[in-house]
Parts: sequence; C-alpha cells; structure tokens
Amino acid sequence: MDDGTQEHIQEVMPREMGELIEFHEMAYKLTGKVYRRTRKIKQHMMTCETCLNRQVKLGLLLTIEEFYEQAQQDHFSKLRYMVN
Ligand SMILES: [Zn+2]
Repeated sequence: MDDGTQEHIQEVMPREMGELIEFHEMAYKLTGKVYRRTRKIKQHMMTCETCLNRQVKLGLLLTIEEFYEQAQQDHFSKLRYMVN
C-alpha cells in the first residue's frame, strides 16, 4: 500500500486502521513471547537428562558413542581423500 492510499484509508476507515495497527503490535509481542518460551524449552532439553534420553531413544540425537564413531569416520574419509 503506498503512502497516499494509506492516508486515504486512514481517513475513511480510521477504526479499522487503528485496530489493524493494534493487532500488528499484539502479533509482534506474541511472536517475541513464543520465541523466548521456545528458546527456554530448547535450552532445558539440551541440559535435562530425561529429555536427552528421550531424544536419543527416538533417534533424534546421537549418543556420545555414535557421535565419536561418526567423527572418526569423517576423519578417516578425509584422510583417504587426501591420500588419493
Ligand atoms: Zn526435561
């Protein structure tokens, strides 16, 4: 919407425009709340034994052993690449 149109709408539909701005602000605040809560939950899940164990069981997270194994494989494949 260009400035001229916006001014015109503001003139003929002041209530709707006012509410629209209000809703935008509410949505903005809500987005912030959702983001902060999500980050808090994720932080918990990365440090909580119960959550970590569940994630490992579901295959969402590598166990320490798997991680180590994969890191070694990556290392060897890089070495092989350098030799060839
Ligand atoms: Zn937990």
